[in-house]
Amino acid sequence: MPGDAPGRTDVQTMTSWSVPVVWEGTFDPVLLDSLYQAKNLTIAATVFAVGKYIRFLKKFLETMEQHFFTGFNVHVFVFTDQPNEVPKVKMASGRQRTVKTVPTLNRWQDISASRMLLVLTLIEEELRDYADFIFCLDVDSEFHGRWGTESLGDLVGVLHPGYYKSDRSGFPYERRPISKAYMAPEEGDFYYCGGAFGGNLQEVERFCQTCSINFWDDRIKGIEAAWQEESHLNRYMWINKPSKVLSPEYLWQDFLARNPEIHLIRFSGIVKNYAEIRPNV
Ligand code: UDP
Ligand code: MN
Repeated sequence: MPGDAPGRTDVQTMTSWSVPVVWEGTFDPVLLDSLYQAKNLTIAATVFAVGKYIRFLKKFLETMEQHFFTGFNVHVFVFTDQPNEVPKVKMASGRQRTVKTVPTLNRWQDISASRMLLVLTLIEEELRDYADFIFCLDVDSEFHGRWGTESLGDLVGVLHPGYYKSDRSGFPYERRPISKAYMAPEEGDFYYCGGAFGGNLQEVERFCQTCSINFWDDRIKGIEAAWQEESHLNRYMWINKPSKVLSPEYLWQDFLARNPEIHLIRFSGIVKNYAEIRPNV
């Protein structure tokens, strides 16, 4: 039927608060792109490559050119402590890149968590009136398939590939009540990943602000949530439900076996040697 969404019956395609869970086969990419083309959107993306993680940047940027919002205005912000080492990957017209220099931090937990505050500053100082949507992505990952307009929403979370089949008792939420990321046993919809999220500028600004404040409140009390900013993200998205949920196609992990419901891997974390690349254990 014209106007009917193509369907999937083997996976959850709608949340209990009635927003889509985006899987391959649930949308018409050509139709969607034509609808969004008329809006002349600008999509911002942030990626951090601090310390040894700079080595992942080339593949990330090259594959992003092939798969991430091709044909749209895209502005990628690369945050690094080694601006001279940023590879000069060629970009198509309508796409641009800006390099931002950030300090080297000594703990990977701090590097990862500092992203929320730096993205908040970027939004407030530069993006608010310029970009329409923003995605914040881990650098230790590569694109393998389309990531496009089907992912757009006010607040967008990605289902973590390790937990999308678990029930909430199996989610690695922060379980200590003293933490601002605390999740009680009866709380939680999904376990979302910290390695990819996004939305419109206002929602992501509010999100980064809240999570940064909560992260630092914890720090003052001498605690760090189980999975740092990912734990705070999960608390936030329980309280503030995403308006679109992306399936684990949008952040798979190369070391995981490809399950039959995964028809297309769009973006996936590479296998890395933690002991070798992180500044601390
Ligand atoms: N990161 C970085 N340098 C570091 C540690 C982390 O640039 O030394 C950034 C990088 O963008 C990375 C993200 O923080 O992708 C999250 O860390 P990581 O990917 O190690 O976390 P994981 O995906 O393994 O949970
Ligand atoms: Mn990662």
